[in-house]
Amino acid sequence: MSYQVLARKWRPRKFAELVGQEHVVRALTNALDSGRMHHAYLFTGTRGVGKTTIARIFAKSLNCERGESADPCGECAVCTAVDAGRFVDLLEIDAASNTGVDDVREVIENAQYAPARGRFKVYLVDEVHMLSKPAFNALLKTLEEPPPHVKFLLATTDPQKLPVTVLSRCLKFNLKRLLPEQIAGQMRHILGAENIPYEDGAIGELARGADGSLRDGLSLLDQAIAYGGGTLRADDVRAMLGSVARGQVLGLLDALAAGDGAQLLAECERIASFSPDFGGVLDDLAATLHRLQLIQLVTGYRHEGGEADGDDALGTLAERMAPEDVQLYYQIATTGRRDLAMAPDARIGFEMAMLRMLAFRPGEAGAPTPAERAPRPVPAPRPAPAAPVALVTPRNESPAVRAAPSHAPPAQPAPTPAAPAPAAAAPSVQAPVPADARGLPHWESLIERAGLRGGMGQLAQNAALRERDGNTLVLVVQSMYMGLAVEPMVSQMADRIGDVLGERIKLRFVVDGQGAAQTPAARAATVREAAQSAAEQAIEDDPLVQSLKREFGARVVPQSIKPFES
Ligand SMILES: [Zn+2]
Repeated sequence: MSYQVLARKWRPRKFAELVGQEHVVRALTNALDSGRMHHAYLFTGTRGVGKTTIARIFAKSLNCERGESADPCGECAVCTAVDAGRFVDLLEIDAASNTGVDDVREVIENAQYAPARGRFKVYLVDEVHMLSKPAFNALLKTLEEPPPHVKFLLATTDPQKLPVTVLSRCLKFNLKRLLPEQIAGQMRHILGAENIPYEDGAIGELARGADGSLRDGLSLLDQAIAYGGGTLRADDVRAMLGSVARGQVLGLLDALAAGDGAQLLAECERIASFSPDFGGVLDDLAATLHRLQLIQLVTGYRHEGGEADGDDALGTLAERMAPEDVQLYYQIATTGRRDLAMAPDARIGFEMAMLRMLAFRPGEAGAPTPAERAPRPVPAPRPAPAAPVALVTPRNESPAVRAAPSHAPPAQPAPTPAAPAPAAAAPSVQAPVPADARGLPHWESLIERAGLRGGMGQLAQNAALRERDGNTLVLVVQSMYMGLAVEPMVSQMADRIGDVLGERIKLRFVVDGQGAAQTPAARAATVREAAQSAAEQAIEDDPLVQSLKREFGARVVPQSIKPFES
């Protein structure tokens, strides 16, 4: 039996199986059952939240041979054709990949002709704002006087780009990103049905990595099953995603709560030893701070979703930290995340964000407050505190001491949590990414600057930049690495690279054994081999070694020679 990817195998075939989007399902179901259908619907929302799935179920509902209803039979010729993606009266157009192609216009103009097999023609136009001008005009014309046998399902991630003339003719729904709990629930359901053993921690990691998209989540799940050889272990999944365990993030917060710079740096060091995706660590930190704040401010709040681990520790942290500090840390974590691409390297960016949390703690005795660092008109007899020393000196005051800084001048205004703004708003002066001989951005520099690590790093290191096609970078990989080039990783990678280049970038991966010889990984291997043979030669040439061989019949074991790391 051939292996079928989970996202396809478990694509919902009826509205009742759909995860999330209850508001859309209810509206469509009511309309179908009452026979009062609108002729055009507009779905807004990110990718992978169910647009195509909804369109297919909708097409079945309208055209099922056993009659129009919100609960199509799933067995007749029409239903099976739709499920197999070969129903002639369901026309799926992805405007993002088809801009400029003339026949899209023709396909839309053909809406006036009667359906070939069913009662209704259903048009699903994805990323509708990207249609070419002629295609868009054809769509507008059809929407103005829609033939009774046509239903339009339009989808866009960017509704602002649509003219009012379109918006006013559509019934609009916002498709929501799924919650990690919803994604995790569906994963458990599928794994149970497929008889695949799993650790619950692994599911939590994958659900968070899915970033609101069930399709991306299931594609990650597929990868993780392959990675773990048929089982799902949390550690494997973390290694695959380049994420770190929840406990690590709690260690950072513990150090912050203690105001202990040395401990904080030690935690950073420990996290860095996993070579994680530092952006992901900052995301985790921000998400944990969010939960912490809820525990602090919402009476009776308990995190739902079955992640009991760490909740006790969070409760303790919530008591040790001031609510306004939590706000500040959150702010710094998110801006630090944003600025990561501009940092000299991701680890420095991460550490600076962590140290900034320590440096800007409001009302902190010993830490330089913005007011103290500002030039003071009144001559101050005491020397200004030296910032770097203050940062790493362990402090052991209790929260009570912190709340009432005794040696601050009483007249000094209390620093506000908005303190990090000047630092975050400082304009970045970053040289552009160097170009290679072909005028393309130098790929290795790009990898470094975009901070591509973990799975993304592995894929990037084994890819070579072949060309640029519009805003698409075409990358060649050997076929064995093609399996890594999947969503959501590719989109995330494109976002990061786009951030560095300062424009929106797409990535396309193509398989080419020849072109892939020029990847960073291949070059590094060549350099390693050269260093190894140079080292072996140097040992052979060494007079002492030669005399040992001569006098004692000694023999050099080549594998035991290791070149110095430069
Ligand atoms: Zn049917």
